[in-house]
Amino acid sequence: ESLDGQKMLEFRRSLPCYKKRDVILKAVSENQVVLVSGETGCGKTTQLPQYILESDIEMGTGTSISIICTQPRRMSAMTVSERVAAERGEKLGGSVGYKVRLDNMKGRNTQLLYCTTGILLRRLLCDRNLGGVTHVIIDEIHERGMNEDFLLVVLKDLLPRRPDLRLILMSATLDSMLFSSYFSGAPTIHIPGHTYPVRSHFLENILEKTRYRLTHHNQTDHFGHEKKWRIQSRGFGNKKTQITTSVEVCLEAASFKEYSLETRKSLTCWDPESLGFNLIEHVLCHIVLNERLGAILVFMMGWDDIMSLKNQLHMHPLLGDASRVMLLACHGSMASFEQELIFRAPSDGVRKIVLATNVAETSITINDVVFVIDCGKAKETSYDAVNNASCLLPSWISKAAVQQRRGRAGRVQPGECYHLYPRCVYETFFEYQLPEILRMPLESVCLQIKSLQLGNISEFLSRSLQAPEALPVANAIRYLKIIGALDEMENLTGLGHYLSVLPVEPKLGKMLIFGAIFGCLDPVMTIVASLCVRDPFMISHINKDLAIRAKSQFSTRDFSDHLPVVRAFNSWKYAEMQQFGDEYCHRNFLSVQTMKDIDSLRNQLFFVLKETGFADSNINQSNRFSHDEHIIRAIMCAGLFPGLCSIMNKQKNIMFKTVEDGLVSLCSSSLNAHEPSIPFPWSVFSGKWKSNAVFLLDSTAVSDSAILLFGGKISRGHTDGHLTMMDGYIDFFM
Ligand code: ADP
Ligand code: MG
Repeated sequence: ESLDGQKMLEFRRSLPCYKKRDVILKAVSENQVVLVSGETGCGKTTQLPQYILESDIEMGTGTSISIICTQPRRMSAMTVSERVAAERGEKLGGSVGYKVRLDNMKGRNTQLLYCTTGILLRRLLCDRNLGGVTHVIIDEIHERGMNEDFLLVVLKDLLPRRPDLRLILMSATLDSMLFSSYFSGAPTIHIPGHTYPVRSHFLENILEKTRYRLTHHNQTDHFGHEKKWRIQSRGFGNKKTQITTSVEVCLEAASFKEYSLETRKSLTCWDPESLGFNLIEHVLCHIVLNERLGAILVFMMGWDDIMSLKNQLHMHPLLGDASRVMLLACHGSMASFEQELIFRAPSDGVRKIVLATNVAETSITINDVVFVIDCGKAKETSYDAVNNASCLLPSWISKAAVQQRRGRAGRVQPGECYHLYPRCVYETFFEYQLPEILRMPLESVCLQIKSLQLGNISEFLSRSLQAPEALPVANAIRYLKIIGALDEMENLTGLGHYLSVLPVEPKLGKMLIFGAIFGCLDPVMTIVASLCVRDPFMISHINKDLAIRAKSQFSTRDFSDHLPVVRAFNSWKYAEMQQFGDEYCHRNFLSVQTMKDIDSLRNQLFFVLKETGFADSNINQSNRFSHDEHIIRAIMCAGLFPGLCSIMNKQKNIMFKTVEDGLVSLCSSSLNAHEPSIPFPWSVFSGKWKSNAVFLLDSTAVSDSAILLFGGKISRGHTDGHLTMMDGYIDFFM
């Protein structure tokens, strides 16, 4: 064991971070805020907190240190703490521990705690001065998540009250000017990495070198996601249009003079808005056949295009041949056994190919990668304040992210990076990604400001690192007033308080609370979880008719896209218990991964609802009316309001009209889009996608009496006289 300890020590000392140990410790002791940047893998997350801990032990003050290190994801908080405990030859829950929602490995002597940003925010709710904490480390700060930006404002306020508290911000790529000026000149320490040089090939070089020809036809994928995205991304919000326009302008200006005629012709066929599966396939073949050994990492936009591409590659004679290629996927919600495969070396002569989302950009390091294929895009939530709508859209990544992706190829030897877009397009990218606070709806963060009693919402947000504009803030406040989370004076209501505790957006939180009170918890949890995760029905233009037919089998002509999800989930759960869950999914065009994600989120939601006292630990108590579809519709209505439209049946043509704007169309994957007429006056919807027209992704038809539930009057008929017991709650909500 001591040999292992010695080896571990040697390993730790070999990390680039170690050379800066003393510089870091000195800076931390002399400054209240310190910024640390360094290549992924250099040892920031695992080493830096240990240096602080060890220096304290060396100085003999011992037990006074208490470090909190936040991680943007649950998964990283858990794996990192496990690694650090192992490095120290300890068990988790000793000097090192972690705390994430629903899981806690923290002992009485824990001095270094890895947790999610959400956990630190909760701690601040109980103790605004963070009593007893000596160091707060915020990791991966470059991701600029909503919670992290929010936390920075809170901590900035706290620093003068706690002059002994130390704040350290760490990241792979960091806009140090921005952060340093926010924290009045905090010093930045850069840890030089020991990565090998990586050669960049932009699209024009790839075309020239491999003689691949782009045509207008070979750029769509088999499953049609791109087509859909193209339509949806056009004209969404001003920022999006600006980006698209600047790419078009630069393409027109570029002449590519030094390239062959074929390459130039090809480039005119290149479609900036499509992902080009065939091009990816071609580059993969090129590497597998012509280049030296080494794993290939492909950066895709999101989970569904990874799955579609994986399916396409499986059918390929070379890339689908398991004796030559080991094809893997890597994304945030992956099970840990799948994760292990990614780190494992393939057998001799087999090429490892990993299709990944941007989790592989900074949080996960695959050591044997030599080739990176970068599609230049990621899916991010865009919020359009003018239309007050948000959706997940593909967008170009930042230059910082490109650099990060490229760096993944140079960890073990010199690498190659294939960028599937021309260099002139790269030049138009932003230096850094737009932070979430500038591109996401602000409802949840406004609730948080109120529940932490941080004063006026607009004033607080104006003090963030990059402050949002007035319109999105006003929209969020107005929305919270409409749903009854804030009163006219912007004070938190009773409902608002509970909504701020639940780990879902306010509208879904409201559904959960109503679901629990009205005894329909089980189906409502399934609906909420699927709205959070994604639609489990896999419908695309290739399989459309079959998939819609499969989906409608879960509908009893109830004119709903949500109720079929409940039935599909319950049937899958049953099939899963009989060991044929996967097969069941394949037969019914359902996604196995989505079902598993919904299942796990349901468990988390149930736990939190029990904790807050809304759900009875005897689940049957919370499910007295789960069979009553009318009540479920009413609850959805209460949650989704004002996402409501009226239905007008006009001969064979159904029209949907929203409360605020005009006509809307239903997305063709919605069952209601295929109905000749709908015998309900209203329909609620959860997702609204903007493009040239307004599309509703899903809808559930509801009756007049369901509408009354959010209007302040409750139709007593529908609750079987059980209202007396619930009257107290109703006063409290309305
Ligand atoms: P950074 O935070 O700078 O990206 P880390 O502290 O996470 O770097 O990791 C430093 C090094 O420790 C990595 O390069 C890797 O070699 C090693 N390492 C980290 N986590 C693990 C793990 N779970 N298993 C094995 N090695 C790990
Ligand atoms: Mg790290």
